[in-house]
Amino acid sequence: MTVENSWVEGSPAYALDEQKGWLRVRVASVAGDKVNVKDGKRSFTVKARDLQLSSEKALKGIEDMIGLDILHEGAIQNNVEVRYGKKQIYTYVGTILVSINPYEQIPNLYTEETIRDFLQKGAKAPPHLYSVSDNVYSQMLTTGKDQSMLISGESGAGKTEATKHCLRYLTYKATENTAFDGSNLIKQCIVDVNPVLEAFGNAKTKRNNNSSRFGKLFQVQFDGKGAIVGGNLISYLLEKSRVVKANKGERGYHIFYQLCKGASKKQIEALSLEDYKEFEYLKKGDCFDVEDMNDVEEFEKVCAAMSKCGIQEETQSKMFSILAAILHLGNINFEEKEGGTGENDYGEVSQASTKSLNVAAILLGVSPKLLQESLSQRTMGGGRGSIYKIPLGCKNCMDSRDALCKEMYSMLFAWLIHVINITMASKNDPKNFIAVLDIFGFEVFEQNSFEQLCINYANEVLHQQFIHHYFKLEQEEYATEGLNVEILQIDQVDNKPVLQLMTAKPISVFALLEEQCQIARGSDEIFIDRFTECLTKMDAKSSCLASRVNRQPTIFEIKHFAGTVKYDAIGFIEKNKDPLHVDLQNLMNIAAKKNELLGNVLKFGTTNRKMNTTVIKTFQKQVNGLMELLDKTEPNYVRCIKPNERKAPQQFEGPLILSQMRYSGLLDSIRIRQAGYAVRRTFEDIIDLFGNSKLGRAGKAEGGKQGALSILQATKMSPDAYVFGKTKVFFKDVDNYAHLLNEMAAI
Ligand code: ADP
Ligand code: MG
Repeated sequence: MTVENSWVEGSPAYALDEQKGWLRVRVASVAGDKVNVKDGKRSFTVKARDLQLSSEKALKGIEDMIGLDILHEGAIQNNVEVRYGKKQIYTYVGTILVSINPYEQIPNLYTEETIRDFLQKGAKAPPHLYSVSDNVYSQMLTTGKDQSMLISGESGAGKTEATKHCLRYLTYKATENTAFDGSNLIKQCIVDVNPVLEAFGNAKTKRNNNSSRFGKLFQVQFDGKGAIVGGNLISYLLEKSRVVKANKGERGYHIFYQLCKGASKKQIEALSLEDYKEFEYLKKGDCFDVEDMNDVEEFEKVCAAMSKCGIQEETQSKMFSILAAILHLGNINFEEKEGGTGENDYGEVSQASTKSLNVAAILLGVSPKLLQESLSQRTMGGGRGSIYKIPLGCKNCMDSRDALCKEMYSMLFAWLIHVINITMASKNDPKNFIAVLDIFGFEVFEQNSFEQLCINYANEVLHQQFIHHYFKLEQEEYATEGLNVEILQIDQVDNKPVLQLMTAKPISVFALLEEQCQIARGSDEIFIDRFTECLTKMDAKSSCLASRVNRQPTIFEIKHFAGTVKYDAIGFIEKNKDPLHVDLQNLMNIAAKKNELLGNVLKFGTTNRKMNTTVIKTFQKQVNGLMELLDKTEPNYVRCIKPNERKAPQQFEGPLILSQMRYSGLLDSIRIRQAGYAVRRTFEDIIDLFGNSKLGRAGKAEGGKQGALSILQATKMSPDAYVFGKTKVFFKDVDNYAHLLNEMAAI
């Protein structure tokens, strides 16, 4: 029997509308596979496959969508939309928490009183980050297993805010649970580390005024009684390029603006920061202020927080010198040296920027001459240990300057995290940890480059872990119910082919890119030629997973689980090698001798890494380490969703939300469920639902498993369509179950 036949006039349903997603409608008339529906006064026609059964429960906006009588996209959208309308931004899908960014402060959602309330309610609490955190903590204590909270979503979906709420709740929970509390300092640091991280690692972007430009894993460590004894932080892929440029309407890292606006008069003078609007690096985005953000106040908070995280004032002012040096370096301009001709032109610091050169040199503790030379020439090795210097052209000088600034900043960031980790380090061996992951979501822009490739790779890996976890859970439920079920083959939802396409050896996107980075004449063009040439040799399926884009010679596309992304290969090699030439390394080594902080910071940079390392190698190693860590934990998922692109409250855009649910794996987890038995009802449910109808009365009297069986046997439903477990009836598919509902309703 096909679905379209079952639609009857007047029945409520969901119809798919391109603009609004699934709408609640009533069926007006049926003609073949076309159905005419009414949405209020408006009527329109849809294909039967774009029509889904209306769910009574979704209309109420229930707390856990696994309990929906009918589990499909229409009902899911309806359910979250109803809740969102009531400012209930959290909803469960089984064990997954879905969170929709409200873009407004919801009264009393995160007050101390609310926290106390959740501490009392425990497992009975409604969906909230607090109830997830509470559960995670209890699980850790009862099972002794380490836990992880994986918070995902696209930029602006609310991941970082969610992370903060979880960490805050955990600190309360842990305090409640331990009479003796000797970990105050560490706990304070866990809360205070956020303003510091955000100052140095967040920036205003078009999507998010406080966008994290790095990924992070925060481990909170506990002793056997559940008291917090330590913390540890790992960061991933800080966006270095933001130090030297921001797109229109965006800013560089908050700390630069906070420093320039909030530092004392004395500091400003010492660092020559009076005219901050004249700094090239800050000027580029043409944006100095962020709505609802007070840089002056923030600066004060950040300094106080740094002190609490173990960074004393003296060190802080040394950090500010490095930041100021970066800003002044950015104002060094180069012009062609007189007398140079054609290709031999080389750059010289322009007259106008000698002041910037001098200030930067003083702040770094090197001579202006050395700084100028390091930026404008490159030392090359000749044969037999001889060396010679070649002058660089203007553009290369500026690239040098930017490379130096990016490197100094990312080293400073890595050092900062290192210092915070020392402060948070546990004195004794912790028994357990809860790891909270706040990492960049899948990215697809009009132009995608190396950065997106890395980010999307990480997301593929995390997605795979999620799918595998769900597969396992599903199999476990069947086992508990004593069913022997062949569910969906994992490769029908698995993204292994894409991962292989990206990482397999010896041939894959990463392997071919590495190959080009190792050979002297490697280039982006050869990389993409080799890629195209190898496509067929990669996994058999990969030919449809990736291709070179017609008539755009440098662009290739990959079909990620979350959608197709076009990558432009230009710049891949350079970005992957991320070189810092020897003159800049020397410059920093010399500066490090004068500047103690720079000396410490230097240990966290390129200069310290092996010559052969590339960004991909390092990142892959990090991602593998992350997966190893997560594999040992019990995962808990929070899916953050952005309801609209305008950062506006109360604007629920169905299709945007559904697409995020789709690629966050939420719908896949449901698909896995539907592939086995889509609908499951407890025996009591069956009796409650049908026991009062004419066919069901006998079964109701019997009760229990036998009662439910009698009821189903009394219907027209084929016995193949369901099986009985220990506590539940499992129905093969939604349509079948829908017919049953219709049949019973008709009686
Ligand atoms: P992400 O880390 O996913 O990029 P953020 O956590 O930084 O996103 O959130 C982006 C912005 O959305 C925040 O700055 C805040 O204005 C708003 N926001 C996020 N979560 C909430 C929430 N629970 N309540 C109110 N506003 C929120
Ligand atoms: Mg963030």
